[in-house]
Amino acid sequence: MSAVLDAIEVKKAGGTLDDDAIEAVVSAFTAGDVPDYQMSALLMAIFLRGMAYDETLALTRTMADSGPRYSFPGCVDKHSTGGVGDKVTLTSMPIVAACGAPVAKLSGRGLGVTGGTIDKFEAIPGFSMALSDEQFRRQVDTVGIAIGEAGVLAPADKAIYALRDTTGTVDSMPLIGSSIVSKKAATGAGHLLYDVKRGTGAFMKTTEQARELAQLLVRLSESMGIRASALITDMDAPLGSAVGNALEVRESVAFLRGEPTRDDLAEVACDVAVRLLELTGAEAPREAVDRALGSGAAHDKLTELVRAQGGDVDRLEDLAVSAHVREVSAPAGGFVARFDALGIGRASLALGAGRQRKDDAIDPGAGVELLVAVGDEVAAGQPVARLYGEREVARAVELAEGALELTPEPVTRSGHVLGSL
Ligand code: URA
Repeated sequence: MSAVLDAIEVKKAGGTLDDDAIEAVVSAFTAGDVPDYQMSALLMAIFLRGMAYDETLALTRTMADSGPRYSFPGCVDKHSTGGVGDKVTLTSMPIVAACGAPVAKLSGRGLGVTGGTIDKFEAIPGFSMALSDEQFRRQVDTVGIAIGEAGVLAPADKAIYALRDTTGTVDSMPLIGSSIVSKKAATGAGHLLYDVKRGTGAFMKTTEQARELAQLLVRLSESMGIRASALITDMDAPLGSAVGNALEVRESVAFLRGEPTRDDLAEVACDVAVRLLELTGAEAPREAVDRALGSGAAHDKLTELVRAQGGDVDRLEDLAVSAHVREVSAPAGGFVARFDALGIGRASLALGAGRQRKDDAIDPGAGVELLVAVGDEVAAGQPVARLYGEREVARAVELAEGALELTPEPVTRSGHVLGSL
C-alpha cells in the first residue's frame, strides 16, 4: 500500500502516525504524487480522530521544512488569529522596535471580513512589502523593523490548507496549530507572541477553545526552539473604533501620536508589546512601553518603517479614506450592550474593505468607523457608525444596524485581555 493509504488506515482506526509516515505523506502530497481525494480522506480521519502531540509536532516540522526557512534568532514576531479592526501589528510592532527589540515579520493578505496586515500597510501610498531577502535583513539591522510578504513560506501548509478549506477540515486543533506554527517557524524569529482572539468576530468562539489553541501554539513553538507566549483577547466587538484598511492605519497613527483613542486598543497593543519584551528578557518592559509612547519614539519608528519601505510619510499623517460616507443612527435610546464584531466585519466587507474571493480588489478607503462603544449611553437618532465606501451600501447599512444591540439597563465594560499563558 502507498504511504497515504497506510496513513488513512492508521488514523481511521484511531492510531498514531510516526514522524517518517507523516513526512512521507506530506512530501508526496506537496510534490503532486498524492491525489486530492486521498489527502482529503486522511485530513477527515485526522479531523475526526485528532492527533497526538508528537504527531502534531512532526506535521509542523515537516510543513515548516517544505520551503525556505529563515533565521532571525534575536528578533521578535507576533501572530494574531485574526479579528475585526485588528490593528495590533500596526501599533505594537513599532512600540517594541522603539524599545530596542528588532522586529522581523512576514505577513499575509486577508481573506474574509477585513484585510490582512499587508492590505493595511498597502493603504499607505507607495508602501511596498516586496522586499528581497537581502533588503529585509538589512532593514531589520538598520531600522530595527521590517515587514515583508509571507510568499512561499511552508508551501506544504498552503497546499493542505487549500484542501482543508473545501473539505470541512479547517476547524481541527492539530491542523490549525501545525499550520500556524509551521509558517512562524519558517519565518524564524526567536521570540513570538500569539494574540489568540475569541468571540463572534474570531475563529475561536469561546475562551476555552482560545485557551486550548493558545496552549498548543505555545507548546509547538517552544518545541521548535522559539520562546513563545500568548494572550487571549476579546473579539466580540471590533478592536478600537476603525475597521477597514486606511481607517485602521489612521487610528493606529493617532494612537502612536498620543491622541485620544479607544481604551481597548491601548490595552491590547501595550500588553502585546510588554509580553514580547518580557520574552526577550528586557528589564521593566511596561515602563519601556510607556516611554516609547510618551516620547513619540514609537510613532517615529512607524514613520521610519514606512519611509524605508517606500511609503509616503506625509500622507501617512492624514491618510485619505473614501469620500462616500453614510451615517447609521440608533433606532432608540439606551445603553450599547453589543456592537457585534462579525456584523461590523461583514458590513465592512460589503463596502469593499475585504475580499470575498482571493482575487477581489480591495477598496483601501472603505470600512466602518464606530462612534460608540459597549457601555455608552445613546439617544434615539444619535449617529452610532459612519460607513465609508460605495459598494453594497444598503447591505452594509443593514448589517451595521443589525450589529447594534441596545438595552435600557446600564452596561458594565469589561477588559479586553481575557487571559495569558
Ligand atoms: N490560520 C492558519 O494559518 N491556518 C489555519 O489552519 C487556520 C488559521
